[in-house]
Amino acid sequence: MAKYLSKKKRNPNRKLFILLACVLVLLAIAVFAVVKIFDSTIPDSPDDDTSIGDQTPNGGESSGDQSGDVTDPNGDGQQGNDDPAPPTPADETAKIAEADYLIRGYFYDEAIELLSGLTSAEAQDKLAEAQALKAGLVKYTGQTYHIFFHSLIIDTDLAFDNKGHPASGYNEWMVTREEFIEILPLLLENDFVLYDITWMCEYDEATGKVTKKDIYLPEGKKPLVMSFDDMNYYDYMLTDGFAQRLDVDENGKIVTHVGGTPVKRNGHIVDIKDYEVTYDGDAVPILDAFCEEHPEFSYRGARGIAALTGYAGAFGWRITDLDWYTAEEQEMILNKVKLIAQTLRDNGWQIANHSYTHNQYWNNKTITMDQLKYDTGRWLNEIMPYVGESHILISPFGVSFKQDDERYRYIVEECGFYIYCPVTATMNTTFYGDNMIQERLNIDGLTMIDYPDRIKNHFFDPAEVLDSARPPM
Ligand SMILES: [Zn+2]
Repeated sequence: MAKYLSKKKRNPNRKLFILLACVLVLLAIAVFAVVKIFDSTIPDSPDDDTSIGDQTPNGGESSGDQSGDVTDPNGDGQQGNDDPAPPTPADETAKIAEADYLIRGYFYDEAIELLSGLTSAEAQDKLAEAQALKAGLVKYTGQTYHIFFHSLIIDTDLAFDNKGHPASGYNEWMVTREEFIEILPLLLENDFVLYDITWMCEYDEATGKVTKKDIYLPEGKKPLVMSFDDMNYYDYMLTDGFAQRLDVDENGKIVTHVGGTPVKRNGHIVDIKDYEVTYDGDAVPILDAFCEEHPEFSYRGARGIAALTGYAGAFGWRITDLDWYTAEEQEMILNKVKLIAQTLRDNGWQIANHSYTHNQYWNNKTITMDQLKYDTGRWLNEIMPYVGESHILISPFGVSFKQDDERYRYIVEECGFYIYCPVTATMNTTFYGDNMIQERLNIDGLTMIDYPDRIKNHFFDPAEVLDSARPPM
């Protein structure tokens, strides 16, 4: 500024120049005011009503929530409106910002559609950027990755106090909230991008054949599936420093109920009172928020897979013990599970069967055909109607069967679970004609401490994230 003024001192037409500048500034203010008034008085065009930002609970933060809908998250409202208002500079700026967010989340077609017809140079540049990125997608030929977690420990004092469930179990099988929060950016830095497992295969309804579906990503990006087992909030965990259950807030976001006191009736925990509603009580809201902040971590809105058993209901709501409840309560908890499941799906999540019983007969593979029919039958009849159709079986204890095992045939042919996920560190994905097997690597205390290379070879160095509150293994 000082330099600018001193320059002008040497200008012989200084007064005239200042006068001219003042007039220009006043003129600019007047034009801005008129534009503002005009902008606020015209009603929203039909175009605005169908813009992506408006369809999402959080306005401008759009693409993440469009997720599951691969074909056209934008809806078809962008075209064919009868009376489009001419875009104002403010409209253009907002649309460019929206398009930028879409591009970060790999919604290139949607960004292109949004920017088409805009005239500013900035909009044209953004359009060219989206087109170039779309053209730059390459067929991914490397391995696919699948890692899984259990519910996050949010209070390490309670989890590791050896009151209730033994600390050693939590130490081996769980990850703490702090660890999970540190893991996500490391995955992003290493070019992993969340990918929906159901986009990796194609199911032909007529023939029952399951074939590999090509994956296209920006060069260098690696597809990652994340699953979360036992999203049931079992009774034994309720006083051990985990969330109590999931719920949905008024903006359509998944929240966690934490703390509070279990309410018992006839010896059963039927409710929780005095809980706190939080956005970081388990993996779902943490991952959702991370993807909203970093849409580049999620390919077209993909999130993870919630793997549910059935014997303790779903998401912390005991819908398979309906006889504990009054008719009114039954309706409430069933609707709760429906709402949570629909919200998860709307936000890009998949839901999988993790067996109904989680019984040891899975673990030692002694499960008989009758037991299998009982187990899958209860899940299909008592869980699936509320969480939605699923073709994914995430096996309890990571168990796997031979392809020609009659039990596996039943799972695929009779139950329709053509995506089957056991646990193996190699994380192979293999197609077997009528089913896809995708192996998963467990991210937990056991792997991080005893087998760190399994993680380090691909993802991150567990030593960097290990929670100091963990007891010795
Ligand atoms: Zn499990």
